[in-house]
Amino acid sequence: MTMVNFPSNAVKEKIQSADAITILSHLNPDADALGTALGIYALLNKDKRKRVEVVNASTALPMYLDFLPHFKKIKHHIDYADSLIISCDCGSIDRLGFDLEGREIINIDHHKSNTNYGNINVVESGYAASSQVAFDLFKTIYEVDANTATCFYAALLSDTRYFTTSSVNEEVFAVAQDLVKLGADPSDIAFHYTQRRPLSSIRILERALASLSLHNDAKIATLKVTAEDIKSTGASVPDMDGVVDYAKSLVTVEVALFAMELDEGIRISLRSKKVDVSKVAMAFGGGGHEVAAGFTLTQCGLQESIDTILLKIKELDLIEKDN
Ligand code: 5GP
Ligand code: MN
Repeated sequence: MTMVNFPSNAVKEKIQSADAITILSHLNPDADALGTALGIYALLNKDKRKRVEVVNASTALPMYLDFLPHFKKIKHHIDYADSLIISCDCGSIDRLGFDLEGREIINIDHHKSNTNYGNINVVESGYAASSQVAFDLFKTIYEVDANTATCFYAALLSDTRYFTTSSVNEEVFAVAQDLVKLGADPSDIAFHYTQRRPLSSIRILERALASLSLHNDAKIATLKVTAEDIKSTGASVPDMDGVVDYAKSLVTVEVALFAMELDEGIRISLRSKKVDVSKVAMAFGGGGHEVAAGFTLTQCGLQESIDTILLKIKELDLIEKDN
């Protein structure tokens, strides 16, 4: 594994000279977004001379993450006008959900598609989670305590899908071990993450699975939920996290697509076993990683959106043909 040179001094100086800091993460946050943000918050709010806030533009947060230290401090608007922004797990500035014109930004992320929108960009696409980037960056500046370790470990557990993704390597286990040594409790975090789902998440999963459709010799699987499915099951966006993985788990499937009919448009989650689906996401104005990417379409309806994406996958020649 290559050693990464982080701009620790530049980050330290920026933080030291800031009176106020706003820690942001991407819209519809997952555990990596919130875990990284809250882990950094736990480090920075110890300095009582500084005003530090943790903010996410989305009001629907995954409630099973409420065990993360300071979870209740998450606000949905920015109070500090000229604060230094620390953005977490967010590939493009629009996904932060605020007007950040003229703000100084430290961008901490691991998305391959990151547009380097910060004044300082700490972006490592080889890393399994943004919390791994944050840990390597901040452990040289601060003493990481159990609160931060808990947040960073939860983020790592989530983005590696319980240490099963292709991004998992020796370093990931070394980071996990360090975080456990610093006070993260693996079984307690796993309990919250895997055994506190609301009923609505199972009900919406049922609807999604009933919609399974296979294409290209069952190499592509699609799932969808209508606005009516979402309404009648009472599901929120965080409840649908992980649904797309069921489609990907099929033996023949190389690319899985999950389409959600939301108020703001048709939200798409793409997953792949190997091929680069971030190319598809970027073609539609979204982004992500090679094997996990997403975007939102606003031009057409649910099935039409799916058909358009299937065509794009074909156009990009992502699926190898049998011969
Ligand atoms: P998910 O399917 O879990 O929502 O997202 C998969 C990955 O793609 C995540 O790493 C997420 O941050 C990224 N992603 C999802 N939607 C968008 C989007 O609209 N824009 C960008 N830049 N990245 C996205
Ligand atoms: Mn992430």
